[in-house]
Amino acid sequence: MKKILQDLSYEEIVSLVQRYGGQPFRARQIFEGIMQGKRLSELPVSADLRSNLLEEYEDEPVKAREIFRSKDGTKKYLFELADGNLIEGVLMQYKYGKTQCVSTQVGCRMGCKFCASTLNGLIRNLTAGEILAQILTVNRLEGGTLKERAVTNVVLMGSGEPFDNYDNVVRFLRNLTAEGGIRISARNVSLSTCGLVPSMRKFAEEGIPINLTVSLHSVTDEERRHTMPVANRYSISEILDACTLYFEKTGRRYIFEYSLIEGENADEAHAYALAALLKRRPCHVNLIRLNAVKERDLKGADAQAARRFLDILSGQGISATMRRSMGSDIGGACGQLRAKYISGDE
Ligand code: SAH
Repeated sequence: MKKILQDLSYEEIVSLVQRYGGQPFRARQIFEGIMQGKRLSELPVSADLRSNLLEEYEDEPVKAREIFRSKDGTKKYLFELADGNLIEGVLMQYKYGKTQCVSTQVGCRMGCKFCASTLNGLIRNLTAGEILAQILTVNRLEGGTLKERAVTNVVLMGSGEPFDNYDNVVRFLRNLTAEGGIRISARNVSLSTCGLVPSMRKFAEEGIPINLTVSLHSVTDEERRHTMPVANRYSISEILDACTLYFEKTGRRYIFEYSLIEGENADEAHAYALAALLKRRPCHVNLIRLNAVKERDLKGADAQAARRFLDILSGQGISATMRRSMGSDIGGACGQLRAKYISGDE
């Protein structure tokens, strides 16, 4: 595979242009062009510089191969990488703007029992530029520019565990928020982790004030081990300590994802235990009814049980909301579209 221009910071593009003997102002044009979602061959540079760059760098590292439109306005993108790997992204329409869900790895090795992304294990990490290019491509396809962004919010909740690809994800976040680029504010970015505690603690020191989101899904370590193998490595109490550190360092409250699974974690007793666990913490809980995945035998809690769960949390003074399931008619749950493609199942 060739290198990826979208991996580079503005300063790195300045050195690259110098190396090829290009005019310094070209670096700004190249950086802006890339951030506008242009392919390398569309950049305003001399024919010489273009052919030099094309020898070393991918023309279009992330191609939108198919777009699926849901009745509720959600769009799902199937992207093809330069090595032929496929990843997916979702764009959700909200009142305040559009939120794009991006992937950080091809596949995943965390092994959560309810998740389709991990069915075939980890294929490879995405580079920082491959993560960023998902957004730049969609922003352009949606008619967005650097001033009037079509993509306003980003969630790292596609396939992959962001903290299992730490360095690339941090580089991506720096380029996403960089001066002169697409400049999506860190406050509009949510990073979701299954709870890799050492990386959570390290990230607290990076000075990137995103919304830290943790997939909790259980109230005891023992139950958590049923569905999330990562619970064998880190305890809920270590996760909560890392969240506290994040709050101390950034002043940002943190968020817990809790997918309601029938017969696993969705009883009233679980709701009370969750409220007790999180009492007086500067946090928010996002509930969602598990999206059933064809290859898995776990089922989402029914609507009534979910409502009751939310009411108990709220009654106990916990800030919580129920997330709507969006785009379910086009394969809303993590990894479904890619899994469908690979198995050739229509
Ligand atoms: N690896 C990261 C990002 C994963 S996906 C993490 O674990 O947080 C984002 C969220 O979707 C996670 O909370 C994940 O647990 C959840 N999820 C995965 N499969 C799901 C499904 N079938 N139904 C509902 N939520 C699911």
